[in-house]
Amino acid sequence: MKTVRTQDKKGTLYIIATPIGNLADLSFRAIETLKEADLIAAEDTRHARPLLDIYGIKTPLTSYHEHNEQEASTALIRHLAAGRSLAVISDAGTPLINDPGFPLVRKAKDAGIDVVPIPGCCALIAALSVSGLATNRFSFEGFPPRKSSARRSWLEKLLNNPRTSIFYESSHRIKECVHDIRAVFPSTREIVIARELTKLHETVIKTTLRDIDLVLQNDPFIEKGELVVLLEGAPPLKDSQEMLHREQERMLGILLQECSVKTAVSIAAKITGIRKRIIYRAALRLRDANSRD
Ligand code: SAM
Repeated sequence: MKTVRTQDKKGTLYIIATPIGNLADLSFRAIETLKEADLIAAEDTRHARPLLDIYGIKTPLTSYHEHNEQEASTALIRHLAAGRSLAVISDAGTPLINDPGFPLVRKAKDAGIDVVPIPGCCALIAALSVSGLATNRFSFEGFPPRKSSARRSWLEKLLNNPRTSIFYESSHRIKECVHDIRAVFPSTREIVIARELTKLHETVIKTTLRDIDLVLQNDPFIEKGELVVLLEGAPPLKDSQEMLHREQERMLGILLQECSVKTAVSIAAKITGIRKRIIYRAALRLRDANSRD
């Protein structure tokens, strides 16, 4: 079977997904395409070599990573324009998904070069498929900021997202990140942490934010390996009135973290125009709910 297209004058660019842990997760089509391509552009050639060796792939390798992708893509477009094919792989999963490849695909499209996907592993899709959270609508958010203040603002933007939110996080930062999620999201919201997918220590934790600390305390491996975090989407809004209400409550929650109930109520009343008495009741309710968590 010929997998690589040879009839075109310009070469074809193949975007090939590779395993995210279990090396057996490389598709037959991916193996054939990697064997037949004229060149493989890999994120890290030393990392790619063992996988290619297992499958007897002897195609020449060049490196294509986040620090050289602008210049390297110009050279790779010349290679394609000369009628030679190119396969792109990253260290794990699907290239371009938080991995190099975007400038190359853009330039290839602009140059009228065929770009063909060879689909396979992707950590976010693998995690979503086993999460037990809604899969009909979801948003992928990449990696959160590393600093807590920036991360909290980033999380606040996800609070009212009705879709399942999915993001990648380093295991070194997962505890701090969960701490910030708890500060921003209601304790009833469900969280899933999918760790080491397809590997020996694959674990999928599913719980509410109320219980996540306890679960993490009892998990000695949580700061090890690779992981994907998923958050249940916000409950459906009945109407825009309710949206307004939720937005006001979110603002009040933030104010309560920064100042006294009296000051928070006074500022919130000024901003929203709602009577202080009503806001005061909401503030007490929020404060009690937070102290119970
Ligand atoms: N391109 C990859 C993909 O398609 O999933 C993602 C690359 S991104 C640089 C690497 C991140 O993906 C890791 O830090 C981790 O959050 C997630 N990841 C990769 N492999 C994983 C695995 N086996 N289990 C859980 N998460 C994984």
